[in-house]
Amino acid sequence: MDRRTAGRLTPLSIGAAMSPITLTAPLEGWAGPLDDVPDAVFAERMLGDGLSIDPTGDTLVAPCDAVVLTVQPTAHAITLRSPEGAELLIHIGLDTVTLGGRGFEMLVAAGDTVTRGQPLIRFDLDLIVREARAAVTPVVVTNGEAFAIRTRAAPGMVATGDAFVTLSPLAQTAIQAAGDGPSAARTITVPLPHGIHARPAARIAEVAKGFNAAVTLAKQGAAVSASSPVGMLSLIVAHNDELTIAATGPQAEAAVAAVAELILHGIEEEPAAPARAAPERPTDVPEGAIAGVTAAPGLAIGTVARWDVQDLDVPSEGCGIAAEEAAFTQACAALSSELAAKAAAASGPLRAILDAHAAMLGDDALLGAARAAIAAGHSAAHAWRAAIRPQADALRAGGDARLAERADDMRDLERQLIGRLMGVEDSGVTLPQGAILVAEDLLPSQFMALDLDRLAGLAIVKGGPTSHVSILAAARGVPTLVALGDPLRHVPVAARVILDAGAGLFHAAPSPETLADAEARVATAATRRADALARAGEECRTADGTRIELFANCGSPADAAFAVKNGAEGCGLLRTELLFLDRDTAPDVAEQTADYQAVVDALDGRPLIVRLLDIGGDKPAPYLPIEGEENPALGLRGVRVVLAHPQILEDQLTAILAVRPLGRCRIMVPMIAGVDELLKVRAVLDRLTGGARDVELGVMVETPAAAIGADLIAAHADFLSIGTNDLTQYTLAMDRGNAAVAGALDGLHPAVLRLIGETVRGGALRERWTGVCGSLASDPLAVPILLGLGVTELSVAPAAVPEIKALVRDLNLAAARDHARAALACPDASAVRRLAREFAR
Ligand code: PEP
Ligand code: MG
Repeated sequence: MDRRTAGRLTPLSIGAAMSPITLTAPLEGWAGPLDDVPDAVFAERMLGDGLSIDPTGDTLVAPCDAVVLTVQPTAHAITLRSPEGAELLIHIGLDTVTLGGRGFEMLVAAGDTVTRGQPLIRFDLDLIVREARAAVTPVVVTNGEAFAIRTRAAPGMVATGDAFVTLSPLAQTAIQAAGDGPSAARTITVPLPHGIHARPAARIAEVAKGFNAAVTLAKQGAAVSASSPVGMLSLIVAHNDELTIAATGPQAEAAVAAVAELILHGIEEEPAAPARAAPERPTDVPEGAIAGVTAAPGLAIGTVARWDVQDLDVPSEGCGIAAEEAAFTQACAALSSELAAKAAAASGPLRAILDAHAAMLGDDALLGAARAAIAAGHSAAHAWRAAIRPQADALRAGGDARLAERADDMRDLERQLIGRLMGVEDSGVTLPQGAILVAEDLLPSQFMALDLDRLAGLAIVKGGPTSHVSILAAARGVPTLVALGDPLRHVPVAARVILDAGAGLFHAAPSPETLADAEARVATAATRRADALARAGEECRTADGTRIELFANCGSPADAAFAVKNGAEGCGLLRTELLFLDRDTAPDVAEQTADYQAVVDALDGRPLIVRLLDIGGDKPAPYLPIEGEENPALGLRGVRVVLAHPQILEDQLTAILAVRPLGRCRIMVPMIAGVDELLKVRAVLDRLTGGARDVELGVMVETPAAAIGADLIAAHADFLSIGTNDLTQYTLAMDRGNAAVAGALDGLHPAVLRLIGETVRGGALRERWTGVCGSLASDPLAVPILLGLGVTELSVAPAAVPEIKALVRDLNLAAARDHARAALACPDASAVRRLAREFAR
C-alpha cells in the first residue's frame, strides 16, 4: 500500500466527471517544491504530495472553500476538506509544536465552514524564525488516493489568492471501498493513558483485520481505516478523546464491539505520570546568562563539553531484498536482546524506559511497514527510518505533551537500529571531570551512555521538561536545563560556566563575583547534603523536640529498601495498585500476601501503611475494567471501586491480615468522601478479624468532603493521611493530568492549606493523628507550613527523606505555627510560595 494514502476513509461523494479544483496560495511568500522542506516527512511525501511556502506574511488563509476538519491545540497546523472531498494539511513551520501555541492565534474552530481567502491562523513570524527549526510551511493533499495534483505554481513569490495548485479527482474505481452490507457504529471515550500510539494502534489493526468488515475510526470528523496503524496515529487520539468506531460489512456489529472492547478494556498501559507544574522560563535574566526551562534542579559549575550528533546517512537502495531482510531481522533480534538485558539489570524510570523501547521494537505495525519498504527495494536502514520517523513526527506534531514524549523514544530506536545495521557505533563523548554537557538534543540511550561520575550538569538547546532524558536526569540528580535555544549553540567548548538549573539560568560567561557566589552555594549545598545523609538515621524531631514521624511512599520492596537506607522510619503509603499493574487478572490472596510481606521484610521492623487498591481515574487496571466515563476523576475511583467489587476488597484485606507479624501493616482507604464508605470497609475487616481491632484502619483525605468532615470520619478511623495530589485537584477543580492547568495546580493554594488545617482540627477532636502523604510533604517550602498546621507525620519520596529530616530538625514549631497562620491569609499560591521562600532564608 502507498504509505501516503494508507488508511484514509474515502469521501463517497466524489464523481468521475468532477472538474479540477483550484487551490489558491494560503500564504504570502516563496512557493517551492516539497523537496526543499528540510524534513523527511514532507520531502519524501510521507503525508502526501503538495507544495511549500516560505512565508513573508503573518496570516494563513483558506486556499478554497472548505470545512475545518482539525485544528491542533497548539494552533500551528490545520486540516481542511474541500466540498469535493480533497483533504489538505497546512503545517506552519517545522517543529513549531514545541512553541506550545506561543505566537499562534487560531481564528477558526474544527467543524467551521470557511470560504476561500478567509483568515484561519495568525502567527508571529519573527518568533517562528527565531525559535522554530524553520518557517517553511508545507501544504499537502493528504488523500492522494482520491485526488492527484495536475498543476502547481512555479517556484517564486506568491501572494494570497494567487493560483497555487490544481487537483483532479481520481476515478471512483480507484478509490478504496469502505465496504458493503450492514453497518454499525459506537462512540467511546478513549481510556488509554497515552492515547492511541504505536502499540495500541497495532493491536487495533490486528483485531479489525480479523473481521469481514471495513472498520474505521473517526475523531472530530476525520476518519481513518482501523487496519492502518499509521493512519490511526495520524488522528492524534489522546487520553479521554471521543472516538467513533464504525464498520460496514457482514460482520460490522461484531467488529465494532471487538474494537471498542479492546480499546476500553483490552490494552494495558502504564498510568500517565502525574502532571508536574509546568516550569517556566525566568523573566529576569542577568547579562551574559541564557534562560532555559528547569528539567532537574540543582547548581553546577563546570567545563563545557559538546556532543552534537548528526543523523546517520543511509543508502536508499538495498543490496537485494533477501540480504536486507536478513540484516534487518538480525539487527532487530540483537537490539531486542540488548534492551532486555539492560532492562533486567535496571530499576525505576530507567527500567520503564528500556521496557518501553523494547515494546516499540516489537511493534508489528512498525516492523511490517519496514519490511514492506525493504520488499520495495530499499535498504533495511532506509526502510526502518521511513517506518518509524513519520510516527515520531506525527506524535510530536499532535500537540499532546504526553504523546510527544514518546517521539524521542522512537527517534532513539531509529538511531539505535540504524547504527547496528550500518555498523556505526555512537562514539559517545569523553567528558572532562565536572563537565557541563551541551547538546542540541539528547536521546535516552545517549544519556545512559554518559559517564555520570564526570558529568556535573546538562544543558540542552531543544528538549522538554518531561522528556525521558529529563526524567532520567532528575532521577540521577543531574542538574539539567532544556529549551535553552539558539544562544546555547554559541557557547564555546571548554568555557567555564554556571548551570543554575533551579533558577532556569545558564551563565555562559560568569563574572568573578557570580562565580564566587556560585562556588560558595555549591560548597554549602554539598555540605548540607552530606550532613543530611550522615544524620538520616536519627529520630525525626523539630528543633524544640516535637516528634514528627518521617515515612516514605513506596511502590515496591526495592523502594522500601532504598527508603530505609535513606533513614525512613516506615512506609506511610504503599501504592498497592503499582504492584499489580502489568497483569490481566486480579492478584490472588497468596500473591498479595507475598508482595506485602516482602515490603514488610524490607522495612525491617518499621511500620507499613498499606493503601487499598486505588484504581480508576488516572489509574486504570486491566483486570478491573471500568466502563468509559465522561468524567473519570469524578467517577468510579478508589474506595468506590473496591466496594463495587467485594471479592477484590475481601481478598486484599485477607492478604494484608496474613502478613506477619500481625499488626505491622496498617490499612488505609483511598478517596473517602463520606463516613458510610469507611463503615462498609470496616464491616468487612471486622468480619475477617472477628472484631478484634488489632490492625489499624485509617483513611486518606483526598476530597474536600473528607477534609471538611474530618471529625465525623475520624470517629471511625484510627488515623488520617492527606493525599494532597488529589485534594488539590478536587479543591481547585483542576485535573491533575491536564497539562493545560498544570501551571496553576499548586498544593500551596491557601484553599488547600485551609482544608489541611480543617483536617488536622477534625482529627484532633477525636484524638487521631494526621499525616500528609501527597507530594506536598516532599516539598521543602511546604513542610514548615504543614507542621505549623499540626501535621505530625510526613510520608515523602524515598530520595527526599534525608533532606526533609534535616529541614524538620532545624524547625522551631512556634515559628512554623505563625508562618502557617500567615500562609492561610495569603490571597493565592504564589503569595504563599513567596512567603515560604522568605521563611526558608
Ligand atoms: C494523593 O492523592 O496525594 C496521593 C498520595 O495518592 P495518589 O497520588 O496515588 O493518587
Ligand atoms: Mg490520591
